[in-house]
Amino acid sequence: MNASSAEFLAGVTGRRVLVRSDLNVPLEGTTITDDGRIRASVPTIRALAEAGARVVVVAHLGRPKGAPDPAYSLAPVAARLGELLGREVAFAADTVGSSAQETVAGLADGDVALLENVRFNAGETSKDDAERGAFADELAALADAFVSDGFGVVHRKQASVYDVAQRLPHAMGGLVAAEIDVLRRLTIEPERPYVVVLGGSKVSDKLGVIDNLLGKADKLLIGGGMVFTFLKAQGHEVGTSLLEEDQLDTVRAYQARADELGVEIVLPTDIVVADSFGDEASARVVAADAIPAETLGLDIGPASGEAFAAALADARTVFWNGPMGVFEQPAFAEGTRAVAAALTKVPGLSVVGGGDSAAAVRALGFDESSFGHISTGGGASLEYLEGKELPGITVLEG
Ligand code: ADP
Ligand code: MG
Repeated sequence: MNASSAEFLAGVTGRRVLVRSDLNVPLEGTTITDDGRIRASVPTIRALAEAGARVVVVAHLGRPKGAPDPAYSLAPVAARLGELLGREVAFAADTVGSSAQETVAGLADGDVALLENVRFNAGETSKDDAERGAFADELAALADAFVSDGFGVVHRKQASVYDVAQRLPHAMGGLVAAEIDVLRRLTIEPERPYVVVLGGSKVSDKLGVIDNLLGKADKLLIGGGMVFTFLKAQGHEVGTSLLEEDQLDTVRAYQARADELGVEIVLPTDIVVADSFGDEASARVVAADAIPAETLGLDIGPASGEAFAAALADARTVFWNGPMGVFEQPAFAEGTRAVAAALTKVPGLSVVGGGDSAAAVRALGFDESSFGHISTGGGASLEYLEGKELPGITVLEG
């Protein structure tokens, strides 16, 4: 069932509803530098509160080591969530302990609470089913129903995503439903031309998706850190750029398959290099097949930005994951800007996936509404597009 359905909402009044949201936002100290995921989580939480549920939100922040760590406290997120909801959010100092129990017991109909970082508990991410299950029992004891709305974590078999759904009546949240709907449109009879743009730094994570998308897309544009494994595979010098040596054969095989299928893999022809990582003063443009050995590539060059934009101009479906360069620094942000600008002009469905890509379009000043869809989940979208099963979705069907 969908948590936004009238039937579900009618049944939640006065009941405790545990909502798994994805509130994993970037922080500098206690300052939230991009609140996109909190804003995306608000509609489901608000709908439940307005229906009279006692809403208990559970989420993670960063990668603490299964024990409390103040650097990863969700306290700043509770404050921001309260501002966005326009109502007080009670914050529990633990996830399932006495503070959580007291906080939940103190909720009136329509109130909202946020539990402390679920990853402060080793059971959350444990590979041991019994340990995870025991923690899920404690989470489930806090509520009468479960709503799965953390799209960024639905590819994880974790207690607050998977096991808890086996222990409570459950529903899919509106955000997860919307994300899955868009992903279906990217995989089932996408409108053509279908162009996929890949970049970012998690190279090996993303190579897998190429495998599946080669059979679906018409063009694949490669930017970001992934470029250098492709350039190296063609025999070019890549200096000290990001490189996955052990993926060179894989990349050559993709190239061969693309040729067979008539899919065009477009690589940048120029690169912005620097003498060391982040050294903006030394930034300069070189040909992609002539990267000086003592430099590293940190963005696609201006000619490549234009070529990528041209390749996107007539697209009817676009999926973009991963910034074209180190967009956090102005000297290496122009490639990402060029691709983002081209996406805003795409006449069909344009989808931006990946936490950093979504943050990049906002940081570069683009209006979110100029894109068809900005996904809140990087890994989850990629695994879906790779054709993998998402445990957090499958469990809701059971
Ligand atoms: P997403 O979160 O959108 O999936 P990733 O996490 O894979 O993207 O990568 C984002 C990061 O990639 C950014 O922090 C950016 O600085 C970095 N990046 C992009 N291009 C390069 C490059 N050529 N070398 C090193 N890092 C890069
Ligand atoms: Mg990222």
